[in-house]
Amino acid sequence: MRNGEPSNGSTAKPRVVLAGWGRVEPTVACVSAPADPSQVAVALKEVGARGLITRGLGRSYNNAAQNDGGEVIVTTRLNKIIAFDADLGVAVCESGVSLEQLMISGLPAGWFVPVSPGTRHVTVGGAIAADVHGKNHHVAGSFAQHVQWLDLLQPDGQERRVTPAEEPRLFWATAGGMGLTGIILRAAIQLTRVQTSRVRVDTVRTADIDESLEYLSATDNSYSYSVAWLDCLATGAHLGRSVITSGDFAKPDDLAPKDRQNPLEFRPVARLTAPDAWPNGLINRYTVALANEAWYRKAPRRRQGEIQTISTFFHPLDGIRNWNRVYGSAGFRQYQFVVPVGAEPTIRAALERISRARAPSFVTVLKRFGPGNDGLLSFPMAGWTLALDFPAHTPGLAALLDSLDANVLAAGGRVYLAKDSRVAPGTLAGMYPRLDEFRAVRAELDPAGIMASDLSRRLSL
Ligand SMILES: Cc1cc2nc3c(=O)[nH]c(=O)nc-3n(C[C@H](O)[C@H](O)[C@H](O)COP(=O)(O)OP(=O)(O)OC[C@H]3O[C@@H](n4cnc5c(N)ncnc54)[C@H](O)[C@@H]3O)c2cc1C
Repeated sequence: MRNGEPSNGSTAKPRVVLAGWGRVEPTVACVSAPADPSQVAVALKEVGARGLITRGLGRSYNNAAQNDGGEVIVTTRLNKIIAFDADLGVAVCESGVSLEQLMISGLPAGWFVPVSPGTRHVTVGGAIAADVHGKNHHVAGSFAQHVQWLDLLQPDGQERRVTPAEEPRLFWATAGGMGLTGIILRAAIQLTRVQTSRVRVDTVRTADIDESLEYLSATDNSYSYSVAWLDCLATGAHLGRSVITSGDFAKPDDLAPKDRQNPLEFRPVARLTAPDAWPNGLINRYTVALANEAWYRKAPRRRQGEIQTISTFFHPLDGIRNWNRVYGSAGFRQYQFVVPVGAEPTIRAALERISRARAPSFVTVLKRFGPGNDGLLSFPMAGWTLALDFPAHTPGLAALLDSLDANVLAAGGRVYLAKDSRVAPGTLAGMYPRLDEFRAVRAELDPAGIMASDLSRRLSL
């Protein structure tokens, strides 16, 4: 298995090579995929010296859900929606339920997930553990803010129902805690009311980064969802030119007459599967420059009220199964940072460095975040987040990203643990001022260090 679920649920623990979505640092662990929470408790009791970590659908980009030489519990068979209140929109589910499952169950009754990352192939456990954000962060915050409670199997084997009101410390260490406080078994999620399964989208093309920042600042409050795609290789007067898409769920009257018959229809499909035989180097500064140019030119200068499906608007990459393979066996590194409001020059400076270095990223996304939450390691803060995908073999990438880290740190920002593959431990500590509080919670909960991942060892989390 790589990046996926074990094919069966045998109780023997095969040694399996696991990697994150970027495929850069595979390691081998003993993997089990329990079908029942009681089996999870047994696996926890029997854990060896290298500890264990939980894994959902393996969509974090690097090694948060890997444990070299230790154990990994995959939750994809813990995939029951236990109860769904169609009046209140509350779903109680096992932690291996995917956001796609929640959409399939909730949409017919008019409920959508409260926060969706750029893929719906993530589990509820993974969404809580990384406290994921979506295009609506500026109005809805991140995923954990919509969790009413979660059942946590603590490292000492005790199961505990944790609510943000009654146990804020443990809740907010677990939300964003990258699986290091224990194993989330179940959770209750408040979904969001929608009248249709389509989004009414406005698109604008901007000339440069300054116009993009201004446009997002001025218009974000008019939309529930917004994001900018950027051409990271554009230079000079075009630096950071963007295509900004903003939208809200459509009303039934917005739909074409044929779609009004079934306004909540949701039929997710991946139309294509990328084969696993792409050469390293296909995605490079030349091919990305061409693709960026074409993407920018193809976008309308200004278009209003286009009706898009959930898949097109929220999860365009899910249309190609295993699209990460196009980077070849060398894989790619995603780099995502956030800087506070007022640090707009840091965004501009980052783009100047990236374009000067000709470091190619096709999936380059800028978003304005609303306020952060109480998560000790939650990533979002009020400000600007920029995410980029670089082929791992890009010349000079390590030095470039180190220099970006330094600027982000100086601006009071941080990088995202669900994406990170290389930040220095000392730099990370400066970026997350509540890291010591997080470590203190872990020391109390897990003095023997049972919960462990490649990420936690690298960064001493
Ligand atoms: C195409 C793509 C787009 C993305 N877009 C976004 C985005 O817009 N916003 C965003 O925030 N993220 C985004 N991500 C990242 C992704 O949402 C997160 O990494 C998420 O955590 C992945 O969930 P998963 O189920 O695959 O978890 P995994 O990757 O398997 O694990 C992630 C972390 O969660 C922990 N974990 C998983 N299950 C449990 C559990 N039951 N109990 C305790 N800990 C658990 C793991 O230990 C690990 O630390 C994107 C990823 C991809 C591939």
